[in-house]
Formats: sequence, structure tokens, C-alpha cells
Amino acid sequence: MTRENPSPSNRLLRVDEALARVLERAQPRKPCRLEFTEALQHVLAESVRADIDSPPFDKSLVDGYAVSISDVRTLPATLTVAAEVTAGNLPMVGAGEGRTIRVMTGAPIPAGTDAVVMIEETELLPGPTPMVRIGSRQVVAGQNIMRRAFSYVKDQELLRAGKLLQPADIGLLAETGHAEPLVQPRVRVAILSTGDELVPASARIAAGQIRNSNGPMLQAQVTAAGGVAVPLGIARDEAAALEQAILQGLQSDMLLISGGVSAGVLDLVPQTLQRLGVQQVFHKVNLKPGKPLWFGLLLGTDANKLVFGLPGNPVSSLVCFELFVVPAMMAMMQRAWKRPCLQAELIDPFQQRGDRPTFFPGRVEPNGTRWQVKLLDWRGSADLRTLTEANCLVHFPAGEQKYAGGSPVEVYLLGPLPGDCSLSVAGDELTLA
Ligand code: AMP
Ligand code: MG
Repeated sequence: MTRENPSPSNRLLRVDEALARVLERAQPRKPCRLEFTEALQHVLAESVRADIDSPPFDKSLVDGYAVSISDVRTLPATLTVAAEVTAGNLPMVGAGEGRTIRVMTGAPIPAGTDAVVMIEETELLPGPTPMVRIGSRQVVAGQNIMRRAFSYVKDQELLRAGKLLQPADIGLLAETGHAEPLVQPRVRVAILSTGDELVPASARIAAGQIRNSNGPMLQAQVTAAGGVAVPLGIARDEAAALEQAILQGLQSDMLLISGGVSAGVLDLVPQTLQRLGVQQVFHKVNLKPGKPLWFGLLLGTDANKLVFGLPGNPVSSLVCFELFVVPAMMAMMQRAWKRPCLQAELIDPFQQRGDRPTFFPGRVEPNGTRWQVKLLDWRGSADLRTLTEANCLVHFPAGEQKYAGGSPVEVYLLGPLPGDCSLSVAGDELTLA
């Protein structure tokens, strides 16, 4: 087993250094075959080729009459209706020389015909032998016919490996008979909340207790990021209970543990993980909120397991998830992903203090063709309520600095943008569309 490099000296890792250490270890999962009905929002792991021409035969695009162009040079023309072909059936008789065949949308084009006249441009004439009168609009060879292989030809690549499957792709997989495409599986992420003070959301709280908000919030974050959340409930701050729950969590691709990674006497998570063979990659990042973040790796024969010890304070936990867990999940699912960032103007002034970069909850909105961002009245790492009003985190780099109103700042988007706003991507820049 290789030992993980400890960070040099006592200097805290920068966010970008910590992220690089996470990404180095976030290996893609082994591709698997899934039923195509389950494959939506998965990354395709092999290219998909056509096994047939499409359409597989010349077909009618409308309900109407298949005619030979030579029968309708002079209009109006009256033709004998020799047969009727519905979609899914083959024409048993030919046409031409004064005979037409009624065809329905999707029906194969009968031999001897080279155009279809829409039913609306015809008139059926009653009588013992059905006749049809073709009106006055000129008939052009090939009209209303979709030729064989017009859409794609056999063996053509239709979907390339690496594509994130959308509903139309699922339809195309069905059309081409790819019932079990090879895809990157969703990452399974186990979530364990630790703390003697925690009770489930459904419980009444006694003195000194709080409800477990991180567990359900992380579960929602995992789902929103396209993973499969495996909730493990609450573990007490006690070695045996923690060990048992962690062992269960290590069955998943990734384990998120909230709480117990700071400097308290009952912060047992790092030592328990290491006792179970999870190697520490780093502990603590120069970041606000989220400094106590712990990250480690369990080497496995099949795949390595990533373990994050997230700080217990809900906002710290949420920010660490956004900054580190989302990119790791995306890499493990082979998703082409880039953090959605914007340049915005600060509405109010801000004083950045201390030597930690800060991710401050804000609300970004359009102002003409530019973005402006309002910093929320945030009461610190335990203040989850204010986060419910945020749609972004405003990044203030480390170091004392006074930001005047109107200063440009970098904004990390957390979710959908307000109202009717949409973004366009030009190069690496996201701008208001
Ligand atoms: P810890 O990191 O365990 O020292 O926890 C830091 C703070 O976060 C404490 O105030 C905890 O009560 C709180 N906390 C820890 N876990 C959770 C959780 N799952 N839900 C809500 N708050 C939590
Ligand atoms: Mg705790």
C-alpha cells in the first residue's frame, strides 16, 4: 500500500490544492449495462451505431394516394383505387397506368409509384369501382415520400461515447434496438450523520438536542448531482457505533460523514476511519466556511472508496459538498462538467477579513445585461435558513480587502437562476442570454 503524502508543513491546503487531491483519486466507475429505460442522464460508455437504414423502406409521410407521375401530368386526373396500404403492412399490388393505391402515413410506397398526393387534395368518386380525382395542384416526383436511409444509414455512428443521455437519445436507443446500452453507473453515495445531540426530523427534541438536517440535505444534494443516495441515519459519538456504521458506508462508492471532524473531545471520525484502513489524504482546508473538512481513501481491489468527513455545521457541510463532493461525483460518472460561475457586481460594500477565502451566501440577479449580487444577512455556519434564500456563493479570496459597492466578484451558482434568465456560453464565459 502506498502512503498518501501529508500536506507540507502545517500550512493549510488551498481550496484548489485540496480539490486537485480529491480529483486525482476520483476514478471513473466501471461501465455497466442498463436497460435503456433506466439510462436517462447516464453517460454513454460506448458509441451506438445503426443496425438498419432509417427509414428501412421508402415511406409515405402523409395519408393520401400513391401515384405514378406519368398518370398525373395532366390535371385533374381520375385514377382507379387498386388497393389500400396501412402502416405496418406491405403493398400486395402494384400501381401506375391509371391505378393508384391509397396509403396511410408510414406505409411503404407501392411499386410503380413515385409520389403521394395528400388526401385533402383529392376527391373520392362513388361507384362500383372506387375512383379518385386528383385536383389541380401540380404533382412533383418524390413528394410526400421519405426515401430509405434518408435519416441515417446502417453502421452510421448515432450517439458517441461520453454523451449524457437525454430523452431523445432514449428514443433513438429504442429505435435502433439497443435495449441495454453500456453506461457509466450513477455513483452510490452513503450518508452518515454523527452526533449524540442529533435526533431524526420526525422526533420531538429534548433539551440539548437538535434535528439532523445534514443527513436529508446531503441526500438531496447527492440526488441533485445525479448520484444514488444511501442514507445511513445517525451514529452516536462512540467508537463502536461509528465503526459499525462506517463499515456499512464503505460498501458504497463514496461515504459522506457529517460531524465529528473538528477538535472536540468527541470528534472521533478521523481516528475511527484510519483504524478501519481509510488513509487520510488531507484534514482541514483554508476555507470559510468548511475548514475542518477531512478527506481520505480506502484502497480496494476493485475500486477505491472516497470518504469525506464534512464539518457538522450545516452551511459548512453544504459548501464543502458543492466545492469538493460534486466535482468528485462528476469525475466518477465521467460527466463533462464545469462549475457554473459568473462575474457579478456587488450591490453592497463588503469587508473581507482574515486569511481564509470566503464563500458568502448571496442572491444573484440580472441588471440589464449584467449580473448583480446581493450578499445575504448571513449569521454564520449554523445559519441554514439564510441559505434557503441564496442562489449562489460569492467568492472572496483570502486577505484583508475592502470591496466597494459595484466591485466585480466571482459567483458560484447553487441552483437555477431567477425568473426568465438564461445563460449563453461564449468560450469559458457564461453571460446573460
Ligand atoms: P461537529 O462537527 O460534530 O462538532 O458539529 C458542529 C456543529 O454542527 C454542532 O453544533 C452540531 O450540533 C452541528 N451538527 C452536527 N451534525 C449535524 C447534523 N447532522 N445536522 C445539523 N447540525 C449538525
Ligand atoms: Mg459532533
